[in-house]
Amino acid sequence: MVIILKNNPDQKQLDNLLSWLKSMNLGIHMSEGANTTLIGLIGDTSGVDMELINALDIVETVKRIQEPYKNANKKFHPDSTVVDISGVKIGGGNFQIIAGPCSVESKDQICQVAMDVKAAGAALYRGGAFKPRTSPYAFQGMREEGIKLLLEAKKVSGLPIVTEVMDISHLPSFEQVDVIQVGARNMQNFELLKELGTLKKPILLKRGLSSTLQEFLMSAEYIMAGGNEDVILCERGIRTFETATRNTLDLASIPLLKSMTHLPIIVDPSHATGIAKLVKPMALAAAACGADGLMIEVHNDPTHALCDGAQSLTPEAFKDVAEAVRAILPYSFKGDR
Ligand code: PEP
Ligand code: MN
Repeated sequence: MVIILKNNPDQKQLDNLLSWLKSMNLGIHMSEGANTTLIGLIGDTSGVDMELINALDIVETVKRIQEPYKNANKKFHPDSTVVDISGVKIGGGNFQIIAGPCSVESKDQICQVAMDVKAAGAALYRGGAFKPRTSPYAFQGMREEGIKLLLEAKKVSGLPIVTEVMDISHLPSFEQVDVIQVGARNMQNFELLKELGTLKKPILLKRGLSSTLQEFLMSAEYIMAGGNEDVILCERGIRTFETATRNTLDLASIPLLKSMTHLPIIVDPSHATGIAKLVKPMALAAAACGADGLMIEVHNDPTHALCDGAQSLTPEAFKDVAEAVRAILPYSFKGDR
């Protein structure tokens, strides 16, 4: 971090600033030019409040040279992280598809779709038990009962399961869940992220509806700072002025995140578009630009789905997408060489 001082700074205020910085165990490198004085900070500046320093009378501006995320930063961990979910690996060249309905609706539905997506090439099974809905009057999910049914589907299909947690108090029900999903609306639920950091379980972290990539990585950092390094990022589209699609899929984030972090990154073309016929082109585009996997909503009867039917694929349509994606994987972007 570099602090640029105003001309002729008040000596007493400067001394106060320097002793405060030293008290944070930071090395200090002063560079005094004809008109400008710079203070270079050496060491871990992740705890330094930039805004506070910027607000001081003697300070012209403050610049961060290094990103505030350490554990998630590719600079300190150049090799790609491979997250291993009971033998299913994601990242570092391992591409996987997570598929399943938006929500768990019944035992028959959840077990049938599990078998269908498995046959079509999915390696992990998703289904929402606790559902974050915009309306309190909409189907809220089967909750604990839904998790039990997902575990039944795991038993019959052999697929590890991914499901969303909405609140710390629900975590005891997630003990046998293979991957815990943090939904877009909870990306900055910092207390939840801290709690997930204490678990030894992979976390699928979805990008917030209006979050920058740095905020996204800082949320991953919350989980990793607690000791849980198994974080999978998921780009699921962001809010823009466009209303023709549910969200706007930020595909540029994939190669960009790959240059910023070693964590695996998957794409959810279902929530990103909200429209079933857009899932295939966006899934292909995501694979082409280097995503480590996909999360796709699949329902046995989309027109009668209790949630997100308009974006859900039938098992047949999902099979077609999975095959098309596999065919282009050898040509996908592998990063700058
Ligand atoms: C989901 O995956 O079921 C979901 C609610 O997605 P998001 O958090 O991305 O809206
Ligand atoms: Mn959904």
